[in-house]
Amino acid sequence: MKIIKSKGPEIFDIELEKALLAKNRSLAKANKKRFDRSKILAIDIMGSIGSGKTTLIKAILKKLGIGKKVAVIAGDLTTSIDAERIEVEGAHVVQVNTGKECHLDANLIHQAIDRLKLDGVKLLFIENVGNLICPGEFPLGAHKRLVVTSVTEGPYMIVKHPYIFREADVIVLNKIDLAKAMKVNPSQLQKDAKKINPNAPFIRINALSGIGIPKVINALGLKT
Ligand code: MG
Ligand code: ZN
Repeated sequence: MKIIKSKGPEIFDIELEKALLAKNRSLAKANKKRFDRSKILAIDIMGSIGSGKTTLIKAILKKLGIGKKVAVIAGDLTTSIDAERIEVEGAHVVQVNTGKECHLDANLIHQAIDRLKLDGVKLLFIENVGNLICPGEFPLGAHKRLVVTSVTEGPYMIVKHPYIFREADVIVLNKIDLAKAMKVNPSQLQKDAKKINPNAPFIRINALSGIGIPKVINALGLKT
């Protein structure tokens, strides 16, 4: 993101950024068509580092049961920790290392799809890079976008990141068991979320113990 000044070169930067975002949107549309052709439901999981994206995906996979044809694209700057954590649930995982890029984009997903064996895959989770800012601006072609935040991130995560929460189809508040210890009021966070995005369901969960996971599965239109 650029600081906008009223001088020449910066205006050029804005045009570049616009073109970049437009290119990404058209690639995202192509990805969605590809998913639709293969009858795959794709879900983009966004949230900051440590919010519980991987744990949430694992919890959903556990609840859905083995034998489901599920694939996961795990985005990360440099490590494959999350991919390995998810693989033990039996899903087919492709790791996308983004290096210094702080978000996945539609082109990276396009390339990852080519490396995935999509035959028979019905459900695809895309774990975005841990970040609450730019992933919102870069749709990937997923049918649903879920944002997970947790009470350990403090009371202002939602009000401070209106853009990404506005983009969300489902908003999840994780680590609900720690709310008291963190002195965070989940009802206030829910109010903040509803103000920004009245349509997205707001679901309180504990991804580690499984509390609230059936509601998430339901909100995503998945069946156990
Ligand atoms: Mg993760
Ligand atoms: Zn970024």
